[in-house]
Amino acid sequence: MKLAVYSESSADEAAVRILVDGILGEKTEVVKLPNFETKRGFGSVLTNISAVLQELHYGFEADALAVILDSDRTPIHRKAHDEPGQADPKCRLCCLRETVKDIQGQLTPMPNRQPVKTAIGLAVPQIEAWLLCGKDRGVGEASWLVGSKSRKPPYTSGSLKKAVYGKERYSLAEETRCMVAEAERLVDRCLLDLEQHWFPDGFGAFAQDIRRWKEPPSA
Ligand SMILES: [Zn+2]
Repeated sequence: MKLAVYSESSADEAAVRILVDGILGEKTEVVKLPNFETKRGFGSVLTNISAVLQELHYGFEADALAVILDSDRTPIHRKAHDEPGQADPKCRLCCLRETVKDIQGQLTPMPNRQPVKTAIGLAVPQIEAWLLCGKDRGVGEASWLVGSKSRKPPYTSGSLKKAVYGKERYSLAEETRCMVAEAERLVDRCLLDLEQHWFPDGFGAFAQDIRRWKEPPSA
């Protein structure tokens, strides 16, 4: 399967590809996207997603696209949002999902080709929390929700990054190396726990999308 990964940084993308391969149970072939920016936030992912989908649909012939967003302080995705008409416009996952659906509906069908399959995940509050699973019992959507309600978040962006990278300042190469090592550890030891216990909504939605890629296309 030819896979493109689009996320908020190239380091994230390296780690995400390993997670996708782990969930799929096969090594995907890399489809490299053009460099939109080296460091991107949610806003630019949303702005660029149309160009990304068009490149993949008309140009690169990718089979699938995986996108991971950080929730930061925005509402987290819940399973209830998956019900018809229940998408939350403030939830970044729901918002991107709707945008992708709209864009794909506007693409011209290509002969003998299925539309690009997509998987969208929401890391709460950012991907480093996923990467600490199995090492730090305090991470997870449940603890983040409790902390957010009482306005005492259990961790900060800085504390998560320091726990993953071991220091406060690091190069993109160091960041990528640490993220890749942690993603490989997750695939080896705790992918199911990541989905079922710690991040059932934002990672669960992502894993579920990926598993659907293997289903035969609907007529
Ligand atoms: Zn949602």
